[in-house]
Amino acid sequence: MQYDLPLWRPPSEGRSLILQATLGCSHNRCTFCHMYVGKRFRVRPWDDLLADMDSAARRHPHTRKVFLADGDPMALGASRLVDIATELRQRLPALERISTYATPQNLLRKSPRQLRRIREAGLELLYFGVESGDPQVLRRVQKGATPDQIVKAAGRAHEAGFRLSCTVLLGLAGREGSLRHARQTAELLSRIDPAFASALSIMIPEPDEGRDYPLREVPVDTPWREMRPLELVAELRELVAGLECTDTVFRSNHASNYLPIGGRLPREKGAMLALMDQVLDSASEDLLRPEWMRGL
Ligand code: SF4
Repeated sequence: MQYDLPLWRPPSEGRSLILQATLGCSHNRCTFCHMYVGKRFRVRPWDDLLADMDSAARRHPHTRKVFLADGDPMALGASRLVDIATELRQRLPALERISTYATPQNLLRKSPRQLRRIREAGLELLYFGVESGDPQVLRRVQKGATPDQIVKAAGRAHEAGFRLSCTVLLGLAGREGSLRHARQTAELLSRIDPAFASALSIMIPEPDEGRDYPLREVPVDTPWREMRPLELVAELRELVAGLECTDTVFRSNHASNYLPIGGRLPREKGAMLALMDQVLDSASEDLLRPEWMRGL
């Protein structure tokens, strides 16, 4: 397999075969995201993809899960995505799941019929960055989509039969905007009603001499750095309290978070709230993940 670094994947794809269908991110403007700052977006040549798939079939013939990287292979045309899924399924007979990242923009650019074709070809799970339900926050971080556009894109994906795994970012609105960010994000997630939802916490990477890609310049007016660990837990509590999902697995076990929680909504909402109340009532950071253990 030929990999163009850096290479990112969701934590739950840790055991998946990763195939880079595209490189970088066609949007590449979100101010909190450093993943592809140093990569120009491009589509990988078809022959390179076929060579990688042949190599995967030889070396990992029992592969059950494939994750398509980098930031948004859904920017590809429907026919190319159908071809990739079809070729993968032909080469990997044990394949159970193909997943990828998706942005609201690249879902909205496809028609319901195109999305159905992609789904029927075998692409099944989409990691969908929601980040915030607060329109002001989305505008400030240059997400490139409004809450209504995010809901519309998610609805199209659901109608085509995809499962969605939505991510939101704690701390994105800073201390002053925290309550509003939590409540509006809960409202947006409830409207989407995804199969999976997870909360991450904003992290600003430290400058690192050894890093081979540049960091995005953080705007000077950013409020991100202001929040203390317990304030982020309070924001997480407000978010979970506001979730009205019908059947969603919710997690905050990402390495960026201070308090990993998880459960199925709505059934385990009370237990998750009780755990967070216990931590908040203690007013102690001793129960939280120590700073040195947070990372990406
Ligand atoms: S769309 Fe996703 S990968 Fe692209 S810049 Fe935004 S957060 Fe990063």
